[in-house]
Amino acid sequence: MAAETIKEGGKAKKPKPREITFKCQRCERNRPLKEMVSIARFRPVLVVCRDCAREMR
Ligand SMILES: [Zn+2]
Repeated sequence: MAAETIKEGGKAKKPKPREITFKCQRCERNRPLKEMVSIARFRPVLVVCRDCAREMR
């Protein structure tokens, strides 16, 4: 019987984590999810980046 163990257990190679980006609905720039802010005051909810959220205050 083949006692071969699978070397690629998952820890060795990490697939490139795809950064989730959102398009700011105001400046239309792609921003990472962390920088996105959803403004519930607007309907439908407006999703903008941090910078825009600041300016909209
Ligand atoms: Zn923006």
